Amino acid sequence: MSAKVVVRDLGKRYGDVQAARGVSFDIDDGEIFGLIGPNGAGKTTTLECIVGLRTPDAGSIEICGIDARQYPREVKQRIGAALQTTALQSDITPREALRLFGSFYRVRTKPEALLARFALTEKADSAFDTLSGGQRQRLALALAFVNAPELVFLDEPTAGLDAQTRRDLRRQVAGMKEQGHTVLLTTHDLGEAQEICDRIAIMNHGRIVATGSPRELIARSEALAAVTLWTSAPVEAVALAACPGVQDLACEGNSARFRTPDAGLTLAALTQSLRDQGIDVIELHVQKATLEDVFLELTSPDR
Ligand code: ATP
Repeated sequence: MSAKVVVRDLGKRYGDVQAARGVSFDIDDGEIFGLIGPNGAGKTTTLECIVGLRTPDAGSIEICGIDARQYPREVKQRIGAALQTTALQSDITPREALRLFGSFYRVRTKPEALLARFALTEKADSAFDTLSGGQRQRLALALAFVNAPELVFLDEPTAGLDAQTRRDLRRQVAGMKEQGHTVLLTTHDLGEAQEICDRIAIMNHGRIVATGSPRELIARSEALAAVTLWTSAPVEAVALAACPGVQDLACEGNSARFRTPDAGLTLAALTQSLRDQGIDVIELHVQKATLEDVFLELTSPDR
């Protein structure tokens, strides 16, 4: 698979703050790539350098095979971006904004198609000022698609939206991949990142500290699996504690909770032990590490 974005050793300093340092990653064609990290980690700076809104101090950026630092205009024709705040004239309507933005590009999508796709048809002729936060967010996304871009950059596309709108927009982003777009997004919603991203880079203090698919990142987590068990009769704590890996055991009546570094090993022994005691398992719940566990491990303040 060919890389759509190749970033190498990107550096950007604002006065005393080194906002991005040695940032390197690739995004493959058709991937949804997530950039996550705590506030101030350097995500927006990285994204803005890639789309040409900021000039990096160091490093190289290649987009669709083009040197983005040398040929920014050529790159702009092929990318779309929805950044954190979309400032538009207060009385411009979504239809007018889409027409205006479209006029900047060689290839453009019809405003009607974008209005329908981003559920804005009803508000097509309403002033920007009168749109709700969610509608403005949808318009920002529609504007990012005005030039039928190969690559779309989204900075916190679902921030501050209600659950329904967030879910709709998440579907839109997932749909972008099906329509052949490559997406780079930043988000603070780790559930969202885990759900829609093919690969994720975790940033901290201007550096990328881990890259991989959500599954790969979670597999690297040191967090223990949490097991909750409900049984037909009370289980002896001693018998449970004797199973390999059991930690932080708490028993109460017919239920027990514990943590383990190896759920498979522990549960095999536990099943045998319960069988020996003539006890049935009514319900068993295993919560493995999540992306949030990995995120917290890699970005804790003492790192
Ligand atoms: P957030 O999740 O809060 O949006 P972020 O990961 O996007 O954060 P950036 O906005 O890239 O982080 O900021 C990285 C660092 O650079 C921060 O310390 C920030 O204060 C600083 N910074 C960002 N923009 C500027 C600027 N224009 N001038 C000076 N410092 C800046």
